[in-house]
Amino acid sequence: MVSETAEKTVSAGVLAKYELVIGLEVHCQLLTATKIFAADSNHFGSEPNTNISVITLGHPGTLPKLNRKAVELAVRMGLACRSAITQYNIFARKNYFYPDLPKGYQLSQDKTPICVGGEVPVKFKDANGQVVEKAVLLHHIHLEEDAGKSIHDGDWHTVLDYNRAGTPLIEMVTDPVIRSAEEAAAYLTEVRRLVRYLDICDGNMEEGSLRCDVNVSVRLWGEEEFGTKVEIKNMNSIRNVQRAIESEQRRQVEAIETGGTIVQETRMFDAHTGLTHGMRMKETMNDYRYFPDPDLSPVVVSDEWLAEIRANMPALPKERYEKLLNHYGLPEYDAALLADVKELADYFEAVGQLTTHYKAVSNWIMGPVKAQLSEKSLRDGQFPLSVEKLAELISLVDSGKVSFSTASQRIFPVLIEQPEKSPEQVAQEQNLLQNSNTDTLQTLVDEVLAAWPDKVKEYKKGKKGLLGLFVGEVMKKSKGSADPKLTNELLQKSLSSPL
Ligand code: ADP
Ligand code: MG
Repeated sequence: MVSETAEKTVSAGVLAKYELVIGLEVHCQLLTATKIFAADSNHFGSEPNTNISVITLGHPGTLPKLNRKAVELAVRMGLACRSAITQYNIFARKNYFYPDLPKGYQLSQDKTPICVGGEVPVKFKDANGQVVEKAVLLHHIHLEEDAGKSIHDGDWHTVLDYNRAGTPLIEMVTDPVIRSAEEAAAYLTEVRRLVRYLDICDGNMEEGSLRCDVNVSVRLWGEEEFGTKVEIKNMNSIRNVQRAIESEQRRQVEAIETGGTIVQETRMFDAHTGLTHGMRMKETMNDYRYFPDPDLSPVVVSDEWLAEIRANMPALPKERYEKLLNHYGLPEYDAALLADVKELADYFEAVGQLTTHYKAVSNWIMGPVKAQLSEKSLRDGQFPLSVEKLAELISLVDSGKVSFSTASQRIFPVLIEQPEKSPEQVAQEQNLLQNSNTDTLQTLVDEVLAAWPDKVKEYKKGKKGLLGLFVGEVMKKSKGSADPKLTNELLQKSLSSPL
């Protein structure tokens, strides 16, 4: 019998005898306004059972009608992954009973998934810390509807919220080609970045917009056949996916090493214990009795429609990276960092319309702007500073009126608090403009003159050429921020008193 808990008894040496084999099934909720087969709102966070209709609940006599947008978004993902697009699609009923499935079947695609094959590029570190680049092969991507949600109160009662029922989903299924927890994490990170770039899903794992089932097996190195897999359901973070894989790997190796066998089953991951536990034996395929849905006609993705979707594809992360590198001339580091998050790249390009000092824009975003952003405000596209204000701030620094440190440490925080003000206005109000900042400059002039008493004497005796030396010293003290003209004036005035 397989033990339920995997204590950390398996040595690294024993673990290393086995190869880990992983396949991921990722569900993404599509960002459509309405459900996949009805006009009820597809909005997350509404009052329970308010976004429902007789169609979504499958009342007798109602007919589903396919949402064109859902098809479009699925095709977008397929094109981004270089999958083959299925042009003749049939929706099938997947029959099973569960309280959160009011119709008694889920509409899904069985024989004709909308995207076939394809790949997702990943980059991750192997066990030796070497960076590996690889394409994770996709088996297919299909369209289906989400089920409702059962909420258990822990006291024998369960309540049901059907708002989620009928939410359009794509399910992306990889081939069993993933070989480590790190690679699985890199794949999920890239899928999340892709759906956000493509604007087809918000990629929020905590809210369940992006969910992952993990299939794991182990086999001795060199063995041809795969081991028996288990499927771990309902992971709500990339970190937990990694932990679940590592714990499952240990459990399976330990079971095999102690003469047990692995049972094909569905398991749950407990984030508190870090262990998986058995939930149910995996049903066989035939249990679902798939058959083509008689209420929906086949969906044809015509050549014209496909061409239109292709023509309207948003830029992908890699294209974005190359544009930042080549068009805007940013260093690789900056380009990679900005392209990593679509919102940052968008913001950069928007500011880049108003100034050509691209490196300065990048410095501002990677420095003060990013420090202000939380994950949430980033998702909402709520940057601490408007595109126009950041461009103004950059030109204020470029014109020499304020230094970067004054702009970032003294003006930027005020602009966040008082967004109605302009950078120049704040600089004026706070007396930060370099040419109006006479007092600060006078202090530097006094310091310089006090430090060079002999030179001051020589100057006063007529060696006027020494003025350049004093100007240079004041400039040095001000770290280059002093206005040279004003410095000259103040020095001459201070030096005009007789000996
Ligand atoms: P099922 O019929 O149980 O749903 P599938 O063959 O459809 O199984 O595969 C589901 C997922 O499991 C896919 O992502 C696939 O890559 C993965 N998978 C299949 N066999 C294995 C295995 N032996 N070990 C790990 N993952 C596997
Ligand atoms: Mg399957």
